[in-house]
Amino acid sequence: MKIQGIEYRELAERFGTPLYVYDAEVLTSTITELRGVLHPAIEVFFSLKSNPNVSVFNTLRAGGARAEVSSLVELRTALLAGAQPHDIIFLGPGKSDRELIACLETGIYAIVCESFAELDRIELLAAERDLYQRVLLRINPAVAVQGSRLTMGGKPRQFGIDEAEVLAAGDLASKYRHADVAGVHVYMGTRILDADVVAKNTRYILDLAERVVSSTGIRLDAVDIGGGLGVAYFDGEEDIDAKSVAEVLNPMLEEFVSLHPGTRLIMESGRYLAGRAGVYVLGVRYVKESMGERFAVADGGTHHHMAAVGIGSFVKRNFPAVALDRDEDADPGELQSWNVTGPLCTPNDTLLKHAQLPALEPGDLIGVLRSGAYGPSASPGLFLSHGFPAEVLVHDGQAHLVRDRDQPEDLLRPQHLLDLTATTATTTSGK
Ligand SMILES: *Cc1c(COP(=O)(O)O)cnc(C)c1O
Repeated sequence: MKIQGIEYRELAERFGTPLYVYDAEVLTSTITELRGVLHPAIEVFFSLKSNPNVSVFNTLRAGGARAEVSSLVELRTALLAGAQPHDIIFLGPGKSDRELIACLETGIYAIVCESFAELDRIELLAAERDLYQRVLLRINPAVAVQGSRLTMGGKPRQFGIDEAEVLAAGDLASKYRHADVAGVHVYMGTRILDADVVAKNTRYILDLAERVVSSTGIRLDAVDIGGGLGVAYFDGEEDIDAKSVAEVLNPMLEEFVSLHPGTRLIMESGRYLAGRAGVYVLGVRYVKESMGERFAVADGGTHHHMAAVGIGSFVKRNFPAVALDRDEDADPGELQSWNVTGPLCTPNDTLLKHAQLPALEPGDLIGVLRSGAYGPSASPGLFLSHGFPAEVLVHDGQAHLVRDRDQPEDLLRPQHLLDLTATTATTTSGK
């Protein structure tokens, strides 16, 4: 199999395995298509938590994506890739002073504030520096809309301020001097595959924004409608269709824009933008049978791809996967049932269970597809101290290393060897 004309085999030989390979063409066409069909007032912000690689974000940024970040390093990544402060928002339930100060000093568009205590903190830190900072209030909605794989609303959450509390807060427009509360953010859930669910969420959020304005008197510089557009991973699923989303969303947005010209409309997306652009490439080390089942023990595992474990679902379902070094047109022969496992000493290190693959041998390459989001950064890469894999971005038919593979020195460097004899000596001399 090839990516932009390059054999995966060639990439494996050049960069080694396990390896993440990202396709810049897929990133670009996904953001371009999404922006092309959505109402022009909508701005798409990439959630860097789904893939924090600076070159991946840079590719999306070149296609018009803005940045939604949640840590100091993600903020620096966005800036390094050339995002304008005006196109960056920072969210997360436990922001540190260091992070808040970095936001203030960078002059990002908005901090998405998750509690009134945090709002007081932003006010204080901004006042100390004589700065002003736009704040969007993250609201924990009173209801959950069904249909996403992880619903956020209608439950006690560490995220955001309860809807009822915001609506009862009274005047928020003049209460703070340096924290400029001027917008609303709601994130309803992730992996939504149904356009109607996005429509219902958005309807609710736009109405809520109006109610917040009436009860608190804030300006509405921006409404962030969250996102959570999903992609298919498992049998029977289909990607959410951008055109269908646009069809139900655009009229609603048009109406909102006519009532609130100049209000920025923000949609956040991680998985939808990056998910389909990545392949996790592993090499088979050993094949064996155990009690009648075939195992391909590979050089990569769930420490780089925790999502593939399928935590949270009752039955293990497989990400789509293929044998990468088979000729696409050639007859794959009879498919067999394979468990593809990694090098970790836990039975959970199973990337694929009973997957239908051609006969495998040591040296074969397997690709776990649709792995561009929530890959290494959402995985326990330090488990068994293997570290994180290399990452390659294929752009304009050329493969570029965009992250080095962790080396043993990288993992050992931050550790400190305690000299036990020296400690003993100190204790003894103190006697
Ligand atoms: C994780 C997250 C996202 C991205 O979600 P996807 O499902 O990957 O699009 C967006 N907004 C918030 C607040 C998040 O926590």
